Amino acid sequence: MTVELRDLTTLRLGGPARRYVEAATEAELIEAVQAADEAGEPVLLVAGGSNLVVADEGFDGVVVRIATTGVTSDVEARCGPSCSGATVTVAAGEDWDAFVARAVASEWVGVEALAGIPGAVGSTPIQNVGAYGQEVAESIARVRVWDRRLKGVRTFANADCVFGYRHSRFKADLSRHVVLDVTFQLRCGDLGAPVKYAELARTLGVEQGDRAPLGKVRDAVLALRRGKGMVLDADDHDTWSAGSFFTNPFLSAEQASALPEESPRFPQPDGTVKTSAAWLIDHAGFGKGHGLDLRGGRVSLSTKHTLALTNRGGASTADLLELAREVRDGVERTFGVRLVNEPVLVGVEL
Ligand code: NAP
Repeated sequence: MTVELRDLTTLRLGGPARRYVEAATEAELIEAVQAADEAGEPVLLVAGGSNLVVADEGFDGVVVRIATTGVTSDVEARCGPSCSGATVTVAAGEDWDAFVARAVASEWVGVEALAGIPGAVGSTPIQNVGAYGQEVAESIARVRVWDRRLKGVRTFANADCVFGYRHSRFKADLSRHVVLDVTFQLRCGDLGAPVKYAELARTLGVEQGDRAPLGKVRDAVLALRRGKGMVLDADDHDTWSAGSFFTNPFLSAEQASALPEESPRFPQPDGTVKTSAAWLIDHAGFGKGHGLDLRGGRVSLSTKHTLALTNRGGASTADLLELAREVRDGVERTFGVRLVNEPVLVGVEL
């Protein structure tokens, strides 16, 4: 039976896999990748499929779906007055949002603001997933991987993961490592980590830097994300996306000074200035829902957020890339800033 990538990706785009393997255990996962590597067969790893844009022609190699399961926590993970923290190891194929729900229910602190992010746990260290002022690098103790070059299992402590803004050593060398599991070091308690993000603090009715009950933080994040079409819902085409399609640009001080006065600017310690890709898109003339009246309405910007490119049903990857180019080139013409795609492109170029 032919497996279509459109059935494995949140964008619901992408043609057939030449070969398909579902790996339910770590041994099956390693074996599938190693066998393909030895045969010189291209490998596409898919877990949640939430950050992938795959060609209409599909993938001419083996698609390995990471379906490993398992969450283990050490004794200290039982919360109580003497709890010194929870060390929790999660298999790569586990659903990220379900893990966040479990962490909150177990009173493990540190990932509550990352609720509602689609995808699997093993994908989170790759681009150091972050949202609402939290990122996984703050909670990861170590990442175990299959190293395809050295043909062995390796463990990277946090400091060796080279985490940066939506970046890590795994993203820098995408085809080398297969994440097997991730170990989190989480504090115990019923209050979330200090709320860093202004919009989240406003929603919770607390000052930035204050804490709020863990469950309330999760609920507030889920509500904010839902309002922006960023929580998967099969009935809502605004969520048929790969999340944010473009990363926020980091500009030199000189580039940033050329932007309009009212544009968002977040100065960074290294002297660069981060701005908002969503703002640039909007102010270059691509508002929410842009594209609904073009290309048969098959693709458009989300009607809830300008940063998500969405499949309205019946779209092709070619349609989506056409829209992506239109937006990228329009922003560049207007502001001189070239946006870079965040999702991984497979068999296509922007
Ligand atoms: P927003 O509140 O409209 O803000 C736009 C951008 O400004 C955000 O991307 C955020 O960067 C940045 N920003 C806001 N306050 C900042 C501060 N004090 N310092 C530095 N940068 C700041 O953002 P949004 O698009 O609705 O997203 C809300 C949060 O959810 C963001 O954290 C975003 O990253 C996350 N999110 C991510 C995805 C994804 O697919 N990657 C999808 C949906 C939402 P940051 O992105 O660095 O926070």
